[in-house]
Amino acid sequence: MMTPKTKIIIVGGGAGGLELATKLGRKNQAEIILVDRNQSHLWKPLLHEVAAGSLDDGVDALSYLAHARNHYFHFQLGSLIDIDRENKTIKLAAIHDKEGQLLVPERQLDFDILVMALGSVSNDFGTAGVKKHCIFLDNPKQAHRFYDEMLNLFLSYSVRHKPDDKINIAIVGGGATGVELSAELYNAIEQLTSYGFEGLDKEALNVTLVEAGERILPALPIRISTAAHHELTKLGVRVLTQTMVTRADADGLNTKSAEKINADLMVWAAGIKAPDFMQQIGGLETNRINQLVVKPTLQTTLDSTIFAIGDCASCPKKEGGFVPPRAQAAHQMATLCYKNILALLEGKELKEYVYKDYGSLVSLSRFSTVGSLMGNLVRGNMMVEGKIARLVYISLYRMHQIALHGYIKTGLMMLVGSINRIIRPRLKLH
Ligand SMILES: Cc1cc2nc3c(=O)[nH]c(=O)nc-3n(C[C@H](O)[C@H](O)[C@H](O)COP(=O)(O)OP(=O)(O)OC[C@H]3O[C@@H](n4cnc5c(N)ncnc54)[C@H](O)[C@@H]3O)c2cc1C
Repeated sequence: MMTPKTKIIIVGGGAGGLELATKLGRKNQAEIILVDRNQSHLWKPLLHEVAAGSLDDGVDALSYLAHARNHYFHFQLGSLIDIDRENKTIKLAAIHDKEGQLLVPERQLDFDILVMALGSVSNDFGTAGVKKHCIFLDNPKQAHRFYDEMLNLFLSYSVRHKPDDKINIAIVGGGATGVELSAELYNAIEQLTSYGFEGLDKEALNVTLVEAGERILPALPIRISTAAHHELTKLGVRVLTQTMVTRADADGLNTKSAEKINADLMVWAAGIKAPDFMQQIGGLETNRINQLVVKPTLQTTLDSTIFAIGDCASCPKKEGGFVPPRAQAAHQMATLCYKNILALLEGKELKEYVYKDYGSLVSLSRFSTVGSLMGNLVRGNMMVEGKIARLVYISLYRMHQIALHGYIKTGLMMLVGSINRIIRPRLKLH
């Protein structure tokens, strides 16, 4: 008689979870089920490009069902809402259609091993008016909403334009998302001008980037944040540091120093947290931003059959502090989690995760790329800029694609990308 296979559920098919499901599926040693609330995967660091229209996710998104079939795992569409550790089940919310008709009732799936990889959402720190008036860039739906509203603003401006009239866009948070989106907006306006949007030029755009800390890109070396600040200012972005937003209204942002920043469109990209429903989910230990606290083996502190990886995990670093919420960390954690799950199944000792920081690159659209390479790539910490930086920036996405598709298919995808750059418009226009 055949013994039933161990059932491994991975919740969240993002930068970490999808790579893990792909690796485990190939191994074919257990029954692998990937659960995601969306039908398709788009690598999250591309969201600001979707928001500005420089990337069409209709072309780049990957169908979970197709990928699951090709890599020997199962896919279940659904949103996790709870974990029952005693009965080793997870609960998925009911699914409704656009009209609110029930399609699939609430359901439970049982597991032997569970991996939580459901990422993070923006943290508005309870700031008044933010949920109502600002757009977050947490998923493709929100990126589309920004894109549609931006295009509407540009369209109405190009029809009505008068002297001194401006398109005011405010972005809160001077991290990579805020900085990269600011630059993408200038690329978008240049492209739209070239496609015939009348009266629309760089001067029409008034982008304000607001950061509460002393400098933008606070997680990166000071030289890089200075270089990025300089590049943004050159493009025309008003960069406000040491500026705390206290409230968002329909017509703009209010700051602690009582300044009003007028804005027709506002994005909130200041800080992250794991989703609120994760707070003490299943009685597991969580921190103040709802992340699951894990041991260096990536097992949650209170249940060794539940792992957490990526942004939703709070993982201590050997040298102190915690692993940052980054795509490279999610990628590395997926690799170790894969090895540790196999070790657990084979009764071997589990390894500890050591975060390797290869540096950070920030893309200022086609205008520039700045960043630093660190540790294992170069000796010490080296600042890079321009074409080399752009190449390394793109290579982070390539690594993700290689982990999912292998070298040959990734090569073919790069070829299709090059052809698309010739035959498709530079900017999504609808
Ligand atoms: C605009 C932007 C730019 C960025 N740029 C960079 C960069 O240049 N470099 C870098 O290192 N990092 C960057 N990051 C951060 C990086 O995207 C994240 O650290 C990384 O994606 C985290 O991976 P993850 O697997 O933990 O989660 P994600 O990649 O966010 O995946 C989470 C998955 O879980 C699913 N999910 C969520 N909730 C549920 C639920 N309840 N039930 C089922 N499924 C669920 C989601 O649909 C998603 O597919 C950027 C982030 C943003 C927003």
